[in-house]
Amino acid sequence: MYKFYVGFLVLVIMLFIQFLFSLNPYILIIFMVLAFTYIWYVYDQHHKLQNRIENNELLNTINIKNKDANLKNKQLMTVVSSIPFPMLLMDEKGAIVIYNKHLTTFAQNKMYQNATYLHNGLPQEVQQFLKDAFILEKKLEERICIEEAEFQAISIPVLSKAKFIGCFIMFQDLTKALEGEKMQKRFIADVSHELKTPIAVIKGMLEILNRDDFDDIETQKEFLNQMEQETCRLEQMVKDMLDLSRLSIADPLLHRSKVDISLLLKDCITSLKEIADVYNVSLKTSFHTDEFVFCDPIRIRQVGMNLLMNGMKHGGNEICIETYVEGPFYIFSIHDDGEGIAKEEQTKIFDRFYRVDEARTRDKGGSGLGLAIVKSIVEAHKGKIELQSEKGKGTTFIVKLKRELN
Ligand code: ADP
Repeated sequence: MYKFYVGFLVLVIMLFIQFLFSLNPYILIIFMVLAFTYIWYVYDQHHKLQNRIENNELLNTINIKNKDANLKNKQLMTVVSSIPFPMLLMDEKGAIVIYNKHLTTFAQNKMYQNATYLHNGLPQEVQQFLKDAFILEKKLEERICIEEAEFQAISIPVLSKAKFIGCFIMFQDLTKALEGEKMQKRFIADVSHELKTPIAVIKGMLEILNRDDFDDIETQKEFLNQMEQETCRLEQMVKDMLDLSRLSIADPLLHRSKVDISLLLKDCITSLKEIADVYNVSLKTSFHTDEFVFCDPIRIRQVGMNLLMNGMKHGGNEICIETYVEGPFYIFSIHDDGEGIAKEEQTKIFDRFYRVDEARTRDKGGSGLGLAIVKSIVEAHKGKIELQSEKGKGTTFIVKLKRELN
Protein backbone atom coordinates (compact mmCIF):
# COMPACT_ATOMS: atom_id res chain seq x y z
CA MET A 1 0.00 0.00 0.00
CA TYR A 2 2.86 2.26 1.00
CA LYS A 3 4.31 1.73 -2.51
CA PHE A 4 1.18 3.18 -4.13
CA TYR A 5 1.08 6.21 -1.87
CA VAL A 6 4.70 7.02 -2.82
CA GLY A 7 3.87 6.35 -6.54
CA PHE A 8 0.92 8.69 -6.26
CA LEU A 9 3.14 11.32 -4.58
CA VAL A 10 5.71 11.02 -7.43
CA LEU A 11 2.91 11.46 -9.95
CA VAL A 12 1.69 14.62 -8.17
CA ILE A 13 5.28 16.01 -7.98
CA MET A 14 5.84 15.27 -11.69
CA LEU A 15 2.57 16.96 -12.63
CA PHE A 16 3.56 19.94 -10.50
CA ILE A 17 7.01 20.12 -12.27
CA GLN A 18 5.19 19.82 -15.61
CA PHE A 19 2.89 22.61 -14.59
CA LEU A 20 5.86 24.81 -13.50
CA PHE A 21 8.36 24.05 -16.30
CA SER A 22 6.08 22.73 -19.11
CA LEU A 23 8.46 19.77 -19.81
CA ASN A 24 8.27 17.54 -22.82
CA PRO A 25 5.63 14.83 -21.93
CA TYR A 26 8.00 12.04 -23.12
CA ILE A 27 10.73 13.25 -20.79
CA LEU A 28 8.15 13.44 -18.02
CA ILE A 29 7.04 9.83 -18.69
CA ILE A 30 10.69 8.65 -18.71
CA PHE A 31 11.29 10.47 -15.42
CA MET A 32 8.19 8.97 -13.95
CA VAL A 33 9.11 5.41 -15.04
CA LEU A 34 12.64 5.88 -13.63
CA ALA A 35 11.29 7.30 -10.40
CA PHE A 36 8.76 4.44 -10.08
CA THR A 37 11.40 1.79 -10.81
CA TYR A 38 13.75 3.32 -8.27
CA ILE A 39 11.05 3.52 -5.60
CA TRP A 40 9.98 -0.05 -6.41
CA TYR A 41 13.57 -1.28 -6.09
CA VAL A 42 14.25 0.57 -2.81
CA TYR A 43 11.01 -0.60 -1.36
CA ASP A 44 11.67 -4.21 -2.44
CA GLN A 45 15.11 -4.21 -0.82
CA HIS A 46 13.69 -2.71 2.31
CA HIS A 47 10.88 -5.24 2.33
CA LYS A 48 13.29 -8.15 1.84
CA LEU A 49 15.49 -6.90 4.69
CA GLN A 50 12.46 -6.55 6.91
CA ASN A 51 11.36 -10.08 6.02
CA ARG A 52 14.83 -11.43 6.71
CA ILE A 53 14.91 -9.76 10.12
CA GLU A 54 11.45 -11.07 10.95
CA ASN A 55 12.37 -14.57 9.74
CA ASN A 56 15.53 -14.57 11.83
CA GLU A 57 13.59 -13.47 14.89
CA LEU A 58 11.02 -16.17 14.25
CA LEU A 59 13.76 -18.76 13.77
CA ASN A 60 15.41 -17.67 17.02
CA THR A 61 12.13 -17.94 18.90
CA ILE A 62 11.50 -21.38 17.39
CA ASN A 63 15.01 -22.48 18.33
CA ILE A 64 14.63 -21.27 21.91
CA LYS A 65 11.21 -22.93 22.18
CA ASN A 66 12.64 -26.11 20.67
CA LYS A 67 15.52 -26.15 23.14
CA ASP A 68 13.08 -25.50 25.96
CA ALA A 69 10.82 -28.32 24.80
CA ASN A 70 13.82 -30.65 24.46
CA LEU A 71 14.99 -29.81 27.96
CA LYS A 72 11.51 -30.32 29.37
CA ASN A 73 11.24 -33.61 27.49
CA LYS A 74 14.61 -34.74 28.85
CA GLN A 75 13.58 -33.75 32.37
CA LEU A 76 10.29 -35.63 31.97
CA MET A 77 12.07 -38.72 30.60
CA THR A 78 14.57 -38.61 33.50
CA VAL A 79 11.71 -38.48 35.99
CA VAL A 80 9.84 -41.24 34.15
CA SER A 81 12.87 -43.52 33.89
CA SER A 82 13.79 -42.98 37.54
CA ILE A 83 10.38 -44.22 38.66
CA PRO A 84 11.32 -47.66 39.96
CA PHE A 85 8.28 -49.50 38.60
CA PRO A 86 6.53 -49.85 35.21
CA MET A 87 4.57 -46.74 34.21
CA LEU A 88 3.05 -45.23 31.08
CA LEU A 89 1.13 -42.24 29.85
CA MET A 90 -1.77 -42.81 27.48
CA ASP A 91 -3.27 -40.00 25.40
CA GLU A 92 -6.94 -39.31 24.65
CA LYS A 93 -6.82 -41.70 21.66
CA GLY A 94 -5.45 -44.56 23.73
CA ALA A 95 -1.92 -44.33 22.33
CA ILE A 96 0.95 -45.03 24.73
CA VAL A 97 2.94 -41.81 24.36
CA ILE A 98 5.44 -42.17 27.22
CA TYR A 99 6.66 -45.24 29.06
CA ASN A 100 9.74 -46.26 31.02
CA LYS A 101 12.19 -49.16 30.66
CA HIS A 102 10.48 -51.12 33.43
CA LEU A 103 7.38 -51.36 31.23
CA THR A 104 9.54 -52.77 28.43
CA THR A 105 10.82 -55.46 30.82
CA PHE A 106 7.23 -55.99 31.84
CA ALA A 107 6.39 -56.63 28.17
CA GLN A 108 9.42 -58.95 27.94
CA ASN A 109 10.88 -56.52 25.36
CA LYS A 110 7.91 -57.09 23.05
CA MET A 111 6.59 -53.52 23.21
CA TYR A 112 5.22 -52.59 19.74
CA GLN A 113 5.94 -49.36 17.85
CA ASN A 114 3.08 -46.83 18.03
CA ALA A 115 1.55 -48.95 20.75
CA THR A 116 -2.04 -48.39 21.83
CA TYR A 117 -3.99 -49.72 24.78
CA LEU A 118 -5.07 -52.66 22.59
CA HIS A 119 -1.92 -53.47 20.65
CA ASN A 120 1.25 -53.24 22.67
CA GLY A 121 2.73 -56.66 23.44
CA LEU A 122 1.98 -56.28 27.14
CA PRO A 123 0.60 -59.19 29.19
CA GLN A 124 -3.14 -59.84 28.86
CA GLU A 125 -3.93 -58.63 32.41
CA VAL A 126 -2.14 -55.33 31.80
CA GLN A 127 -3.92 -54.81 28.47
CA GLN A 128 -7.28 -55.35 30.18
CA PHE A 129 -6.39 -52.76 32.82
CA LEU A 130 -5.30 -50.24 30.14
CA LYS A 131 -8.58 -50.83 28.31
CA ASP A 132 -10.63 -50.24 31.49
CA ALA A 133 -8.64 -47.10 32.31
CA PHE A 134 -9.17 -45.76 28.78
CA ILE A 135 -12.87 -46.58 28.56
CA LEU A 136 -13.91 -45.64 32.10
CA GLU A 137 -11.85 -42.40 32.21
CA LYS A 138 -11.74 -42.48 36.03
CA LYS A 139 -9.29 -43.29 38.81
CA LEU A 140 -8.79 -47.05 39.03
CA GLU A 141 -6.92 -49.24 41.52
CA GLU A 142 -6.69 -52.97 41.04
CA ARG A 143 -4.48 -55.86 42.11
CA ILE A 144 -3.25 -57.85 39.13
CA CYS A 145 -1.19 -61.01 39.11
CA ILE A 146 1.41 -61.58 36.41
CA GLU A 147 3.44 -64.77 36.44
CA GLU A 148 2.91 -65.24 40.18
CA ALA A 149 4.01 -61.69 40.99
CA GLU A 150 1.41 -59.33 42.43
CA PHE A 151 1.11 -55.72 41.25
CA GLN A 152 -1.03 -52.83 42.38
CA ALA A 153 -2.21 -51.20 39.14
CA ILE A 154 -3.20 -47.54 39.47
CA SER A 155 -4.68 -45.30 36.77
CA ILE A 156 -5.01 -41.55 37.26
CA PRO A 157 -6.97 -39.68 34.55
CA VAL A 158 -5.46 -36.47 33.16
CA LEU A 159 -8.08 -33.77 32.57
CA SER A 160 -7.96 -30.47 30.73
CA LYS A 161 -10.99 -28.17 31.19
CA ALA A 162 -12.86 -31.18 32.60
CA LYS A 163 -12.16 -33.12 29.39
CA PHE A 164 -10.30 -36.46 29.44
CA ILE A 165 -6.96 -36.03 27.63
CA GLY A 166 -5.31 -39.25 28.75
CA CYS A 167 -4.26 -41.13 31.84
CA PHE A 168 -1.17 -41.90 33.89
CA ILE A 169 -0.82 -45.58 34.73
CA MET A 170 1.65 -47.33 37.03
CA PHE A 171 2.18 -50.84 38.30
CA GLN A 172 3.60 -51.10 41.81
CA ASP A 173 5.36 -54.37 42.58
CA LEU A 174 3.86 -55.80 45.76
CA THR A 175 6.05 -58.90 45.92
CA LYS A 176 8.47 -57.41 48.46
CA ALA A 177 5.75 -55.88 50.62
CA LEU A 178 3.80 -59.16 50.61
CA GLU A 179 7.01 -61.08 51.27
CA GLY A 180 7.62 -58.82 54.29
CA GLU A 181 4.05 -59.45 55.45
CA LYS A 182 4.52 -63.22 55.04
CA MET A 183 7.84 -63.09 56.91
CA GLN A 184 6.24 -61.14 59.73
CA LYS A 185 3.46 -63.72 60.00
CA ARG A 186 5.99 -66.56 59.94
CA PHE A 187 8.07 -64.81 62.60
CA ILE A 188 5.04 -64.42 64.89
CA ALA A 189 4.13 -68.09 64.34
CA ASP A 190 7.74 -69.18 65.06
CA VAL A 191 7.99 -67.02 68.17
CA SER A 192 4.67 -68.26 69.54
CA HIS A 193 5.77 -71.83 68.90
CA GLU A 194 9.13 -71.26 70.63
CA LEU A 195 7.62 -69.53 73.65
CA LYS A 196 4.87 -72.12 74.05
CA THR A 197 7.18 -74.92 75.27
CA PRO A 198 8.94 -73.17 78.19
CA ILE A 199 5.69 -71.45 79.23
CA ALA A 200 3.85 -74.82 79.22
CA VAL A 201 6.65 -76.39 81.31
CA ILE A 202 6.57 -73.57 83.89
CA LYS A 203 2.75 -73.57 83.99
CA GLY A 204 2.61 -77.37 84.47
CA MET A 205 5.12 -77.26 87.33
CA LEU A 206 3.38 -74.33 89.01
CA GLU A 207 0.07 -76.23 88.90
CA ILE A 208 1.68 -79.21 90.64
CA LEU A 209 3.46 -77.03 93.19
CA ASN A 210 0.19 -75.25 93.97
CA ARG A 211 -1.72 -78.42 94.78
CA ASP A 212 -2.92 -78.45 98.41
CA ASP A 213 -1.65 -81.98 98.96
CA PHE A 214 1.82 -81.34 97.47
CA ASP A 215 4.56 -81.77 100.11
CA ASP A 216 7.50 -83.41 98.30
CA ILE A 217 10.47 -81.15 99.13
CA GLU A 218 12.84 -82.97 96.74
CA THR A 219 10.53 -82.56 93.72
CA GLN A 220 9.80 -78.99 94.72
CA LYS A 221 13.54 -78.19 94.59
CA GLU A 222 13.92 -79.94 91.25
CA PHE A 223 10.89 -78.09 89.80
CA LEU A 224 12.15 -74.72 91.02
CA ASN A 225 15.50 -75.48 89.42
CA GLN A 226 13.88 -76.36 86.10
CA MET A 227 11.62 -73.34 86.25
CA GLU A 228 14.67 -71.14 86.77
CA GLN A 229 16.32 -72.73 83.73
CA GLU A 230 13.21 -72.25 81.59
CA THR A 231 12.90 -68.63 82.72
CA CYS A 232 16.56 -68.01 81.81
CA ARG A 233 15.88 -69.57 78.40
CA LEU A 234 12.84 -67.34 77.92
CA GLU A 235 14.87 -64.31 78.93
CA GLN A 236 17.63 -65.25 76.47
CA MET A 237 15.11 -65.84 73.70
CA VAL A 238 13.45 -62.45 74.21
CA LYS A 239 16.89 -60.78 74.27
CA ASP A 240 17.90 -62.59 71.06
CA MET A 241 14.62 -61.69 69.34
CA LEU A 242 15.03 -58.02 70.24
CA ASP A 243 18.60 -58.15 68.96
CA LEU A 244 17.52 -59.77 65.73
CA SER A 245 14.72 -57.26 65.14
CA ARG A 246 17.20 -54.39 65.70
CA LEU A 247 19.57 -55.96 63.18
CA SER A 248 16.86 -56.81 60.62
CA ILE A 249 16.23 -53.21 59.58
CA ALA A 250 17.76 -52.01 56.29
CA ASP A 251 20.62 -50.06 57.87
CA PRO A 252 21.14 -51.13 61.49
CA LEU A 253 22.94 -48.78 63.84
CA LEU A 254 26.59 -49.76 64.29
CA HIS A 255 29.07 -48.02 66.57
CA ARG A 256 32.18 -48.50 64.48
CA SER A 257 35.76 -47.91 65.55
CA LYS A 258 39.19 -49.29 64.62
CA VAL A 259 39.34 -52.74 66.18
CA ASP A 260 42.11 -55.31 66.55
CA ILE A 261 39.98 -58.41 66.01
CA SER A 262 42.76 -60.81 67.13
CA LEU A 263 42.79 -59.02 70.48
CA LEU A 264 38.99 -59.05 70.62
CA LEU A 265 38.93 -62.83 69.99
CA LYS A 266 41.57 -63.36 72.70
CA ASP A 267 39.22 -61.53 75.06
CA CYS A 268 36.35 -63.87 74.04
CA ILE A 269 38.57 -66.88 74.81
CA THR A 270 39.39 -65.49 78.27
CA SER A 271 35.68 -64.99 78.99
CA LEU A 272 34.85 -68.54 77.86
CA LYS A 273 37.74 -70.29 79.65
CA GLU A 274 35.57 -71.73 82.44
CA ILE A 275 32.85 -72.95 80.08
CA ALA A 276 35.55 -74.48 77.84
CA ASP A 277 36.81 -76.42 80.89
CA VAL A 278 33.25 -77.68 81.55
CA TYR A 279 32.95 -78.86 77.91
CA ASN A 280 36.53 -80.15 78.08
CA VAL A 281 37.54 -78.28 74.94
CA SER A 282 40.90 -76.64 74.32
CA LEU A 283 40.93 -73.29 72.52
CA LYS A 284 43.86 -72.63 70.18
CA THR A 285 44.76 -69.47 68.26
CA SER A 286 46.64 -68.87 65.04
CA PHE A 287 46.72 -65.12 64.41
CA HIS A 288 48.45 -64.04 61.18
CA THR A 289 47.61 -60.36 61.15
CA ASP A 290 47.51 -57.44 63.51
CA GLU A 291 45.55 -55.27 61.11
CA PHE A 292 42.72 -53.13 62.48
CA VAL A 293 39.20 -53.35 61.10
CA PHE A 294 36.64 -50.54 61.13
CA CYS A 295 33.74 -52.32 62.81
CA ASP A 296 31.42 -52.38 65.81
CA PRO A 297 33.51 -54.16 68.52
CA ILE A 298 30.50 -55.13 70.66
CA ARG A 299 28.70 -56.72 67.69
CA ILE A 300 31.81 -58.49 66.37
CA ARG A 301 32.48 -59.80 69.90
CA GLN A 302 28.91 -61.17 69.84
CA VAL A 303 29.76 -63.00 66.58
CA GLY A 304 32.94 -64.44 68.13
CA MET A 305 31.17 -65.50 71.34
CA ASN A 306 28.24 -67.12 69.49
CA LEU A 307 30.49 -69.08 67.11
CA LEU A 308 32.80 -70.17 69.95
CA MET A 309 29.85 -71.24 72.12
CA ASN A 310 28.43 -73.24 69.19
CA GLY A 311 31.85 -74.79 68.62
CA MET A 312 31.92 -75.91 72.25
CA LYS A 313 28.29 -77.12 72.35
CA HIS A 314 28.58 -79.14 69.14
CA GLY A 315 32.33 -79.58 69.03
CA GLY A 316 34.84 -82.26 69.87
CA ASN A 317 38.06 -81.64 71.73
CA GLU A 318 39.59 -78.64 70.07
CA ILE A 319 38.60 -75.29 68.63
CA CYS A 320 41.04 -73.36 66.46
CA ILE A 321 40.63 -69.62 65.94
CA GLU A 322 42.47 -68.08 63.01
CA THR A 323 42.84 -64.51 61.69
CA TYR A 324 44.42 -63.42 58.38
CA VAL A 325 43.97 -61.03 55.49
CA GLU A 326 43.17 -62.07 51.92
CA GLY A 327 42.65 -59.52 49.14
CA PRO A 328 40.03 -56.99 50.22
CA PHE A 329 38.99 -59.08 53.23
CA TYR A 330 39.99 -59.41 56.85
CA ILE A 331 39.09 -62.98 57.72
CA PHE A 332 38.57 -64.77 60.99
CA SER A 333 37.61 -68.40 61.16
CA ILE A 334 36.50 -70.68 63.97
CA HIS A 335 37.09 -74.35 63.38
CA ASP A 336 35.97 -77.23 65.58
CA ASP A 337 36.50 -80.96 65.24
CA GLY A 338 33.01 -81.84 66.45
CA GLU A 339 29.84 -83.41 65.09
CA GLY A 340 29.73 -81.38 61.84
CA ILE A 341 26.68 -80.40 59.83
CA ALA A 342 25.21 -82.46 56.96
CA LYS A 343 25.19 -80.83 53.48
CA GLU A 344 21.36 -80.62 53.34
CA GLU A 345 21.24 -78.74 56.67
CA GLN A 346 23.94 -76.22 55.80
CA THR A 347 21.68 -73.70 53.99
CA LYS A 348 19.08 -73.80 56.76
CA ILE A 349 21.16 -73.31 59.90
CA PHE A 350 21.25 -69.53 59.48
CA ASP A 351 17.42 -69.44 59.51
CA ARG A 352 15.68 -68.22 62.64
CA PHE A 353 14.83 -70.96 65.16
CA TYR A 354 16.38 -73.66 63.00
CA ARG A 355 18.05 -76.45 64.93
CA VAL A 356 19.55 -79.52 63.30
CA ASP A 357 18.45 -81.81 66.09
CA GLU A 358 15.47 -80.00 67.63
CA ALA A 359 15.26 -81.91 70.93
CA ARG A 360 19.00 -82.23 71.54
CA THR A 361 19.93 -78.64 70.81
CA ARG A 362 17.00 -77.33 72.83
CA ASP A 363 18.44 -79.31 75.76
CA LYS A 364 21.76 -77.55 75.21
CA GLY A 365 19.95 -74.28 75.89
CA GLY A 366 20.05 -72.79 72.38
CA SER A 367 17.31 -70.44 71.19
CA GLY A 368 17.96 -71.30 67.54
CA LEU A 369 18.62 -67.61 66.90
CA GLY A 370 22.40 -67.54 67.45
CA LEU A 371 23.49 -68.02 63.82
CA ALA A 372 20.68 -65.79 62.49
CA ILE A 373 22.06 -63.00 64.70
CA VAL A 374 25.65 -63.76 63.62
CA LYS A 375 24.66 -63.55 59.94
CA SER A 376 22.72 -60.31 60.47
CA ILE A 377 25.71 -58.70 62.24
CA VAL A 378 28.15 -59.73 59.51
CA GLU A 379 25.79 -58.52 56.77
CA ALA A 380 25.21 -55.22 58.62
CA HIS A 381 28.99 -54.76 58.26
CA LYS A 382 28.61 -55.58 54.52
CA GLY A 383 30.65 -58.71 55.13
CA LYS A 384 30.09 -62.40 54.38
CA ILE A 385 29.88 -65.55 56.45
CA GLU A 386 30.74 -68.93 54.96
CA LEU A 387 30.43 -72.43 56.31
CA GLN A 388 32.57 -75.47 55.63
CA SER A 389 31.44 -78.63 57.31
CA GLU A 390 31.12 -82.36 56.93
CA LYS A 391 29.03 -84.63 59.08
CA GLY A 392 31.24 -86.16 61.76
CA LYS A 393 34.32 -84.23 60.68
CA GLY A 394 33.93 -80.82 62.25
CA THR A 395 32.82 -77.35 61.22
CA THR A 396 34.51 -74.12 60.17
CA PHE A 397 32.72 -70.75 60.15
CA ILE A 398 34.58 -68.16 58.07
CA VAL A 399 33.76 -64.49 58.63
CA LYS A 400 34.94 -62.04 55.95
CA LEU A 401 34.97 -58.35 56.78
CA LYS A 402 35.99 -55.55 54.43
CA ARG A 403 39.50 -54.19 54.96
CA GLU A 404 40.14 -50.48 54.88
CA LEU A 405 42.32 -50.21 51.78
CA ASN A 406 43.53 -46.79 50.68
P1 ADP B 1 21.39 -72.31 68.92
O1 ADP B 1 21.31 -70.99 69.59
O2 ADP B 1 20.23 -73.21 69.19
O3 ADP B 1 22.72 -72.97 69.02
P2 ADP B 1 22.18 -71.48 66.36
O4 ADP B 1 21.45 -70.62 65.44
O5 ADP B 1 23.41 -70.94 66.97
O6 ADP B 1 21.15 -71.96 67.41
O7 ADP B 1 22.55 -72.79 65.58
C1 ADP B 1 21.57 -73.45 64.78
C2 ADP B 1 21.88 -74.90 64.67
O8 ADP B 1 23.08 -75.07 63.92
C3 ADP B 1 22.19 -75.55 65.99
O9 ADP B 1 21.01 -76.02 66.56
C4 ADP B 1 23.12 -76.67 65.61
O10 ADP B 1 22.36 -77.81 65.28
C5 ADP B 1 23.81 -76.19 64.36
N1 ADP B 1 25.20 -75.76 64.66
C6 ADP B 1 25.63 -74.51 64.92
N2 ADP B 1 26.95 -74.48 65.11
C7 ADP B 1 27.39 -75.73 64.96
C8 ADP B 1 28.68 -76.34 65.04
N3 ADP B 1 29.78 -75.68 65.31
N4 ADP B 1 28.73 -77.69 64.82
C9 ADP B 1 27.65 -78.39 64.55
N5 ADP B 1 26.39 -77.86 64.45
C10 ADP B 1 26.26 -76.55 64.67
